[in-house]
Amino acid sequence: MVTIEQARFLLAQNVRVLEPVNLAVAAVAGLRLADAPRAQFDLPPADVSAMDGYAARVEDLGAGPLPVAGDICAGMPQTRIAAGTSARIQTGAEIPIGADVVIPQEQAVSEPGGRVRLRPSSPGSFIHKRGEVCSVGETLADAGEVITPHLLGLLASAGPDLLKVTPRPRIVIVTTGSELVSLSERPGQGKIRDGNACMLRALAVAANLPVATHERVPDSQPELLSAVSAAAGAADIIVTSGGVSVGDYDLVRRVVEELGAEVLFHGVAIRPGKPTLAVRLGSKWLIGLPGNPLSALVVWRLFVRPLVEALAGDTKAFDDPTEEGTVTEVASNTGDRTTFAPAFTNLDRRKCCIRLIPWKGSHDLYAMRRANSLAVLPAGTRIEPGGTMSFLRL
Ligand code: AMP
Ligand code: MG
Repeated sequence: MVTIEQARFLLAQNVRVLEPVNLAVAAVAGLRLADAPRAQFDLPPADVSAMDGYAARVEDLGAGPLPVAGDICAGMPQTRIAAGTSARIQTGAEIPIGADVVIPQEQAVSEPGGRVRLRPSSPGSFIHKRGEVCSVGETLADAGEVITPHLLGLLASAGPDLLKVTPRPRIVIVTTGSELVSLSERPGQGKIRDGNACMLRALAVAANLPVATHERVPDSQPELLSAVSAAAGAADIIVTSGGVSVGDYDLVRRVVEELGAEVLFHGVAIRPGKPTLAVRLGSKWLIGLPGNPLSALVVWRLFVRPLVEALAGDTKAFDDPTEEGTVTEVASNTGDRTTFAPAFTNLDRRKCCIRLIPWKGSHDLYAMRRANSLAVLPAGTRIEPGGTMSFLRL
């Protein structure tokens, strides 16, 4: 059995970022850049007006109203104004040759005879210069950066059509257990609904993963073997639920060994989630979650989520994810494993306040309902009310 730190270290050591792919700009929101894209266009593409108003030349201002010689709209090719004249100009329209200033409409007074009185100004006022946001060849973002909506806006405006990005890992969920029935069935004697399949798919959605496929198999070695080998062909990460403990029908380890997998660890000193299995199948991963729902949830949070992010290019994915807060009542762990207990943490306070939620064990999703975090209680700790405790956001 390894400690949680050792488990994290083993995963971090062995993970390789997925091969980059070239995708159209429209398809890359939320992904990480695999190289540093350069600007293909100047932004703005020319000197343009920053306001609706009048284009003029500074030396003509203040000497009485100017004739308005034209109306320049955004998107028009560049025009020209003669000395001693002005032109209406729209925000985003190209500054005409001969003008060196824009006077906003609010600083202009219309006069009879198609003239306008413009307030004095200085050269360049209310003009956005060509390339002042970025110019051709300039690096727009660095490799490894997440493509946020605002970075996507910049890349869409000035970047290349195709971007080299790290994809999100493909995931297949395999739930195991001869007691499991689908949601469309009423569980008969000794049967239960396959709640984990739904929970794990929802976790995959929350982790911004492509829709996870799911396979349910009974406790049968040949059936599990064929499900896992099929999954290995289609996924970067296989997440199994159940069948990972030490019982006669806990077949996941046997199956991965049959497939020649490299076991990184089997058993972590945590509660819940002790039987967790982490395996490399060539370039693919298999994380075996225990079947009890709370265990599956905790192990997803502790290991699957960072593994997903590491494969997707986050170099800090395995950093310690805990935060600290103040505990409201005595919190103790007399056991020999780090406990991750359901907790409600008041996250909107400057100093987080953590309230433990009574729970009956790793099968108790009902207690988890009111939790938004997991309190972290290392083995043999006792924290008095008001003391500092670590927690993990769900
Ligand atoms: P296992 O890890 O296979 O020994 O299962 C531990 C407990 O979790 C057993 O009580 C199972 O019935 C339950 N369990 C296993 N798989 C699921 C699942 N997919 N959904 C809900 N409960 C499950
Ligand atoms: Mg089972």
